Amino acid sequence: MISSLSRMVCTYNISTVLVKEQLWLTTYKVEGAWCGPASCKEEIPEGMFMCSELYLAAFEGRTQEVIGLLTGSYVAIEAARNGQAALHATRANANHPGECCSTSEVTGDRSTLLHIAASQNHCELITELARRDSTLLSSLNTTQETPLHCAARAGHADAVEAIFRLAKDNVEEDRLGGVTGNRNEPGDTALHLAARHGHGAVVETLMKLAPELALEVNVAGVSPLYLAVMSGSVHAVAAIVGYKDASAAGPSSQNALHAAVFQSSG
Ligand SMILES: [Zn+2]
Repeated sequence: MISSLSRMVCTYNISTVLVKEQLWLTTYKVEGAWCGPASCKEEIPEGMFMCSELYLAAFEGRTQEVIGLLTGSYVAIEAARNGQAALHATRANANHPGECCSTSEVTGDRSTLLHIAASQNHCELITELARRDSTLLSSLNTTQETPLHCAARAGHADAVEAIFRLAKDNVEEDRLGGVTGNRNEPGDTALHLAARHGHGAVVETLMKLAPELALEVNVAGVSPLYLAVMSGSVHAVAAIVGYKDASAAGPSSQNALHAAVFQSSG
């Protein structure tokens, strides 16, 4: 239960109740009472745990409130909903009383503000965050996933497109691969995740922006095309097969044709 909650920021269909549980989890970890296996890989320094106000504002896409918490700006704070940002600095249980929040704050699984915004398809917030701190675009959580992975898994084509555009404008060319072609712990690119979940629009967007991702296989030797066929999404399959060099590799020497047979006989 706790382990699954620690990965929750990358899921898009999350209830308010579960959001509160995630916040509880973060607070609990601040107190040092529990440490999950993923988060124990490298201890998160005190003061870098994301404040609950900042998490909620990012999760719900309240861009002005997030900016208000990051800058302490009067105008931004005035614009913030319910005056929550103004109250933040004086709260007794704030992680860093009296100081502004920072883009380096992370959740229990080391997800950044941009991971959260990407998983929820908050494109305005994604843009503001990337312009203020472009290193967020290549930030990694404990499963080595970038914000692009989160957007792709959740099926948000708009967020995927925004991340590519912002990376092109704000990241040096030799570091672009760390944003657009990064692999997570099992070796999946963003295209693998979109294909596995049958997100046709995201697969189509990724194939338009970075078709070379269709050449990549993950640690298990599985290609995005194989996963797209297994997902049953005709849209996803059509977007990948249009690229003639796409790998069709699957596990145990199978290929996408085997996957098609499995699907048709299933
Ligand atoms: Zn904070």
